[in-house]
Amino acid sequence: MLTRLYLHGPASRFDLMLATGLSSATVSNVVTGLVADGLVAEAGLLDSDGGRPRTLLEVRPGYARVVGVDIGETHVQVGLFDWTLDTLATATFPMDDGGPEPELLAGLVTAGIEEVTAKAGADSAALLGIGVGVPGTVLPDGLVHAPTLGWSGVPFEGLLRPHVAAPLHLDNCARTLGQAEMWRGAGRGAERAIVGLLAVGVGAAVATGSPDGVTSTTSEWGHTVIEAGGAACRCGSHGCLEAYVGAEAILGHYERTPGAPRLAAAGVERKIAALVDAAAGPGPAADTLHRTAEYLGIGVANLINLLSPDRVILSGWLSSALGPAVLPAVRDAVRRHSLAYMAEGTRLELGSLGHEAVALGAATLAVHGLLTAGGR
Ligand SMILES: [Zn+2]
Repeated sequence: MLTRLYLHGPASRFDLMLATGLSSATVSNVVTGLVADGLVAEAGLLDSDGGRPRTLLEVRPGYARVVGVDIGETHVQVGLFDWTLDTLATATFPMDDGGPEPELLAGLVTAGIEEVTAKAGADSAALLGIGVGVPGTVLPDGLVHAPTLGWSGVPFEGLLRPHVAAPLHLDNCARTLGQAEMWRGAGRGAERAIVGLLAVGVGAAVATGSPDGVTSTTSEWGHTVIEAGGAACRCGSHGCLEAYVGAEAILGHYERTPGAPRLAAAGVERKIAALVDAAAGPGPAADTLHRTAEYLGIGVANLINLLSPDRVILSGWLSSALGPAVLPAVRDAVRRHSLAYMAEGTRLELGSLGHEAVALGAATLAVHGLLTAGGR
């Protein structure tokens, strides 16, 4: 019942009976408990034709606060959210020289948690949970493999644990981003969505919506080969999608273009912003974005032909930065490279969660824990 209210919004006791198949008495008892615990509140009346008006119930945003941490390749971002995932405060630490050692990075995260809780006047010891999205794989024993950060079996959870009082949850950032777009973003209502995470690295989550929640699994979309004998990729292979549409790959291509004016900005994220600005008129910057759109379109077309999703969502900071400039060209490339009858059933959209999407995704881990396993 709580998941139904959380993911689908206000509902009456009668709606909850229909959605769960529980008896009227059971629904009434459970609602009484949820209201007493402060998770759910009454939210006005719904007129029903002829009959008695029904009381609507909704989750209470103020019930708890959660933290989401985005360990990116170019920044660490810590967000504080209420438990319906509205942002209360954020702190961002740029990392332009490849990122610090895991111990120092854990220190940045704990400093970030202190900063956002202080900004919002919250108590860091009373958080419902802390979710951390990492650009790699989290093994069942908690060790993290993240080649892009140079991590091989790093016990990151163990490094954070002594410094935080709330329950910790670590997972792959593409998977958590997928969950966030399905819950709160451009994936709402989709049955099978693929959420691409565009940053320095490129990944994707395949998310399946169902009445009682969303499940998502990650794929190494960025390392699917789209050109035989193509550009060298940091995974050791050649011609991977990431070697064409990852942030550093895009900048590398631009900087190697003869006659391309230098981008007057420091750091990958600011350089991408400068490139998008420069692409407003014709020239090497516009050509670079056009080439990026073509390869991105090929990558999306491959997803459509393989998995026939009803929605493909491009998310992550790189998508926020260049998505609006390239989307029409990406859609055009998708149309040319996918089978028409497959593409007809697929919508291609940009993510709607903006720059905080990955941190918000990480915060869903703490909420998901409560929805699936209960707790306090
Ligand atoms: Zn690769």
